Amino acid sequence: ITCSVSDKTVVIGLAADSGCGKSTFMRRLTSVFGGAAEPPRGGNPDSNTLISDTTTVICLDDYHSLDRTGRKEKGVKALKEGVAVEKPIYNHVTGLLDPPELIKPPKILVIEGLHPMYDARVRDLLDFSIYLDISNEVKFAWKIQRDMAERGHSLESIKASIEARKPDFDAYIDPQKQYADAVIEVLPTQLIPGDNEGKVLRVKLIMKEGTKYFSPVYLFDEGSTITWIPCGRKLTCSYPGIKFSYGPDTYYGHEVSVLEMDGQFDRLDELIYVESHLSNISTKFYGEVTQQMLKHADFPGSNNGTGLFQTIIGLKIRDLYEIIASKAATPLQATKA
Ligand code: ADP
Repeated sequence: ITCSVSDKTVVIGLAADSGCGKSTFMRRLTSVFGGAAEPPRGGNPDSNTLISDTTTVICLDDYHSLDRTGRKEKGVKALKEGVAVEKPIYNHVTGLLDPPELIKPPKILVIEGLHPMYDARVRDLLDFSIYLDISNEVKFAWKIQRDMAERGHSLESIKASIEARKPDFDAYIDPQKQYADAVIEVLPTQLIPGDNEGKVLRVKLIMKEGTKYFSPVYLFDEGSTITWIPCGRKLTCSYPGIKFSYGPDTYYGHEVSVLEMDGQFDRLDELIYVESHLSNISTKFYGEVTQQMLKHADFPGSNNGTGLFQTIIGLKIRDLYEIIASKAATPLQATKA
């Protein structure tokens, strides 16, 4: 009989500023692979690691406080080769290092944080990379929502904290988007003139052409330029409606395909209508995107392009993983009595 072994760890990078939806994205991603990622049992509460059957999500920001990248690269390399590593845990209270945690090589390793794509040595180890690009206006609106409404901070202190972080953001976080295979860019809507509330969002999914094992999603006809308003008999839209756009473009000198959604869904179950007009979404059955979105309707961004595109990228990553795993599988000849 023939059986196959596959022990290759597929490594995904996810970069974004803090409070920009990385954990929400991870929850959508691990759900696509079946099973939510949980912190390791009995682990250090300061650990940022999440583990599920297939996926391990580690936050590499802890390494930043050590030597810049040497250890980061070594750790990711070892996991990629199937070797367990001990990851340091930075204790935010004492400012010292806690005893390290053991990370076993998973099927999919997601390294998330502020700088997973900053250094070329780590970047080269990634099989796929994503950057969440939240525009200043929207970041501000989300921070107000969270820090003012939920934590009682003042408007001035929120503004000041964003300003204080800006030089570091511009120097070390934002430049990573040029290296990403997919960028989810979140902007204020253009459907409401002069809107700066940051409630209705225009979201762009920018997908690099020529990325190995990844083919961009398209609307109606690949490579054409289209705007589409799905509202009408088949999709309920209240003000200000929904508008999709799709087409080829360039991004930091790369050929890309861009899918854009402006506006928000009134009824999530009707998303199936939109889904049926999208191609290359790497679903395993008709309606899988809609099913995933309905399953996590309570996650932030489920009624707009942030949730939709995060879900689609999750499915694309599953596809990429399956292609890489099947290529890595070595057929073994074995005889059974
Ligand atoms: P991170 O892991 O990058 O710090 P989270 O996923 O924890 O970010 O999200 C931080 C906060 O930002 C959430 O509590 C929510 O208020 C807001 N947020 C994240 N994603 C969205 C979204 N798509 N739409 C609206 N708000 C969002």
